[in-house]
Amino acid sequence: FVPVITIDGPSASGKGTVAQRVAAALGFHYLDSGALYRLTALAAERRGLRWRDELEVAQLAGDLDVVFDGAAVLLEGDNVTEAIRSETVGIGASIVAALPAVRSALLARQHAFAEVPGLVADGRDMGSVVFPDARLKVFLTASAEARAERRCKQLSAAGEQPDLAAITADLESRDERDRSRAVAPLQQWPDALLLDTTNMGIDEAVEQVLRWWKD
Ligand code: C5P
Repeated sequence: FVPVITIDGPSASGKGTVAQRVAAALGFHYLDSGALYRLTALAAERRGLRWRDELEVAQLAGDLDVVFDGAAVLLEGDNVTEAIRSETVGIGASIVAALPAVRSALLARQHAFAEVPGLVADGRDMGSVVFPDARLKVFLTASAEARAERRCKQLSAAGEQPDLAAITADLESRDERDRSRAVAPLQQWPDALLLDTTNMGIDEAVEQVLRWWKD
């Protein structure tokens, strides 16, 4: 039996950073489930498939040749660490993620990350669908404004010139699509603990999760 911590929440909430830091502190493995949807969207685009072609995209998702090598992500041997972070691929990810056959094709792959000594899994449905028996479930969120500002800071640090209003609008429409879809909608699961990081730094968020884990 492998202990699992799930951290679900909307995009740009900081859950990825918090999840990685918690995993490092405990010596656990880390699953970035969003990366699998992003990889599926990118692979589909590269094959010339349309993101809404459920059966073709699901088959591709099941057969994805992916290697997670530390912080690097390889798709068919090609380093796509940065390519999967683009805004377009993010939109593609939320489109393929709404297809039930794609979600089931990625299920076994996600379960395979649960290895000793433990796993921290981040996403939208980690606590509800993928690891319903997880010992600790966190729903990590922040206001849309706070999330848009964080995304802007990241983009500025990467040398881009972000437009705060456009980013806020993008985040809100992606959240709406994630929340309103028929399968695995983004929502706070009843047995998840709420962590609102609007006025909280990363360190404080990590400490809170570790405290809950030890309790
Ligand atoms: O978290 P990230 O922004 O990388 O996720 C990209 C997209 O993948 C999300 O907008 C969401 O639609 C989808 N996703 C999902 N279930 C997950 C993780 C991500 O549907 N567990």
